[in-house]
Amino acid sequence: MKKLIVLMLSILVFTGCKASKDTISLTNGLVIENARIISPETHVISSESYIVIENDNIVYIGDNKPSLKGTFKKVEANGKYIIPGLIDSHVHITGVDALSDKEQIENKEIVEKFREQLPKSYLYFGYTTLIDLGTANPSRLSEFKNITIKPDLYYVGGGAVIGNGYGLSNWNDDIPNFIYQESEAYPIPKKYKKENHSPEAVVKRIAESGAIAVKTYYEPGFDPTTAPFPTPSESLMLELKTEAHKNNLILVVHGNSLEAHKFLAKTKVDIVAHGLWNWGNYRLDSTENIPQEIQETLDVEIQNNTGYMPTLQVINGLKELTNSEFLNNKELEHVLPKELIEYYKTNADEMYANVFGDAPQNIISRNFNRISNQGKVTLKYIHDNKGKVLFGTDTPSSPTYGNPPGYNGYLEMLEMQKTGIPLDKILAYATIENAKAFKLDGLYGTVEKGKKANLLILNKNPLEDITAYNNISSIIIRGRLIHRDLLSAVKSKK
Ligand SMILES: [Zn+2]
Repeated sequence: MKKLIVLMLSILVFTGCKASKDTISLTNGLVIENARIISPETHVISSESYIVIENDNIVYIGDNKPSLKGTFKKVEANGKYIIPGLIDSHVHITGVDALSDKEQIENKEIVEKFREQLPKSYLYFGYTTLIDLGTANPSRLSEFKNITIKPDLYYVGGGAVIGNGYGLSNWNDDIPNFIYQESEAYPIPKKYKKENHSPEAVVKRIAESGAIAVKTYYEPGFDPTTAPFPTPSESLMLELKTEAHKNNLILVVHGNSLEAHKFLAKTKVDIVAHGLWNWGNYRLDSTENIPQEIQETLDVEIQNNTGYMPTLQVINGLKELTNSEFLNNKELEHVLPKELIEYYKTNADEMYANVFGDAPQNIISRNFNRISNQGKVTLKYIHDNKGKVLFGTDTPSSPTYGNPPGYNGYLEMLEMQKTGIPLDKILAYATIENAKAFKLDGLYGTVEKGKKANLLILNKNPLEDITAYNNISSIIIRGRLIHRDLLSAVKSKK
């Protein structure tokens, strides 16, 4: 009997302790009630769950209502779906879509409005984490960091372009992290010292800049009538990879042709920043079968577990230059200042001519449809054979109005669905798969305790309907709940 009393007492003490321990104290909390959480890893929808956020972290998730004290806001999410914020792992936040440096100087007001809207546009379409994979200008990066409401931004510390190669159009530009390729032996401006441009020196600088990856390029060029750009040698690429890994950085390489993908498959880089849509001498035949050589290249990438960013919108965005009707699309009003849309409308013909010269629109349109299909066929192959697909848009990829911030991600998702990628996979590619590939899965990618409170509250189930990504009720960024309408360019003018 005595024993039993002791036992009962200890249970009482224990449960008493447990109750007080389970009370969550909040100072700047957000509590989401009755949430239906979709986990991109298991695709399970848990119903009527509670999510508790303190500052910018998720501190509790569970089916039981937690006991709470302190200061917090409550959100009722009955009938809604909660997913992790989306990650676009290939963007460029530096420029103003399609405006040249000269045009930016001449149109300061438009540029200012665009830059103010840009972070909101990404959030408007649910992109709460961005990875800038370009030669982002440091002053633009710090300008972006100073904005209050914005997606979390990661970068590659300025592209490690190949000396005299693609991306280094002009030695007068400041390209602090170009890589000097001894075998090419070319003059470089006096201000640079060769020894500061070895893979080792460049990667060290990139790592010290706070970057999460090294970005380089394999691009002989797009115009067969001009001499090809120098491309990295195999030993240079392997050295870059060794240096990147030594510094705990991911090696991401631009490449979209058969030649590039073959090289990058052989050198086993971590991530190829574009799909294989340039099939070289092969053309998409009527049965849409992949030519043997391309299939073999993709097989090696699958075997290597290379990250594959389809970036389908690169080709589609360029193709939109043949269709100025695109500028009447109502969605653009949410993501671009109306002055910029007007500017595009006025200059649409000139923008076309700048890219395609006097080539007839119908031919350009037909060619780009073919290339776009090639990109889809290779993506489908990678997906069907369990390759590692990563969601990246390359926004904006070229001087076109066809890659608007945020909306371009939604268009990429629509294209992926048209390709035959199932909805659960599109969600995983744009969340947990991207997070894992860039070693950010401790922070993002799932709705889990301990992760950053970057979440989307959707009105529809994204596992049933792709348009759920354009039917967002609210965005939670770093624990801050923002109604979607407040992020629209239409609303923010009021
Ligand atoms: Zn890019």
